[in-house]
Amino acid sequence: MASSLTRFGRALCANAWKSRAAVARTASAAAATRAANSYQQSLLNVPDTKVTVLNNGLRVASEDSGGSTCTVGLWIDSGSRYETEANNGVAHYLEHMAFKGTKNRSQIQLELEVENMGAHLNAYTSREQTVYYAKSFSSDLGKAVDILADIIQNPTLGKAEIERERSVILREMEEVEQQVEEVIFDHLHSLAYQGTPLGMTILGPTANIKRINRDHLSSYIASHYTAPRIVLAAAGGVNHDELVGLAERCFSGLPTTYDLPSLEPCRFSGSMMTVRDDTMPFAHLAFAVEGCGWSNPDYIPLMIAGAIIGNYDRTVGGGQNMASKLAQGHP
Ligand SMILES: [Zn+2]
Repeated sequence: MASSLTRFGRALCANAWKSRAAVARTASAAAATRAANSYQQSLLNVPDTKVTVLNNGLRVASEDSGGSTCTVGLWIDSGSRYETEANNGVAHYLEHMAFKGTKNRSQIQLELEVENMGAHLNAYTSREQTVYYAKSFSSDLGKAVDILADIIQNPTLGKAEIERERSVILREMEEVEQQVEEVIFDHLHSLAYQGTPLGMTILGPTANIKRINRDHLSSYIASHYTAPRIVLAAAGGVNHDELVGLAERCFSGLPTTYDLPSLEPCRFSGSMMTVRDDTMPFAHLAFAVEGCGWSNPDYIPLMIAGAIIGNYDRTVGGGQNMASKLAQGHP
């Protein structure tokens, strides 16, 4: 353990006793600040986020809100942004293979173990992360971490399973191509970040899906699934020290360094694309404006601004009765 830090430290306000007159005089002021006080109070009720960095560079983060269940997962710096044109799609392919058995558990054993715990095991791949996570009873935290550690460190990557998954992923690609919301966002990325890795799709082109083999998958694990690129995060009924102990036991074998070039900023380009199909009843439109990165101080205010504007889907009922200002403005 090298460092540990805590969010939201002490109490933010303390009310002293006042005389009755002083109380009357300040009643209206108190009413005016009640909202602010209750907000501050609500912050005090947020559990601390505890972060510990292990000696091998793996970060462990947790929020203990009590209760009898928890969610624990691995967030890995891996996704289509970390790929090249030649191996685009490999991170997503690997995510599929994680549930096909490990050196310690066959696929059936893995499924039975999760089922018998009454737990939920899932994963997703985005442009910038691959995530494996489990929801379980807090008393099963150790088993959940053990399963997560096993599926990312010891996947069997059997030849027959790789072949079977190839057709599953090609089918998934066909499904994605039927969803216009997905299609326009892929087009948006391909234009806004043209010529950079952010312009590629998460699934990769058909030619790559047909070509990816065991060597591609195992070399991707060796280069990307290393300790400094992984966060083990948990929330719910989670004891941080217990989680750190589990991480030290289950992830000590991970490589402590990685030999990958540092991530270059992806250039943003203005451009336009129209795909016209007069047989479709609706037009689907997306446009993007260059924003700031996750580590920029303006990122959170930008998210709040986005939440104030809100979402609006005209195909969902509710119209101007919805909370979104966007819906109220365009009933
Ligand atoms: Zn998939």
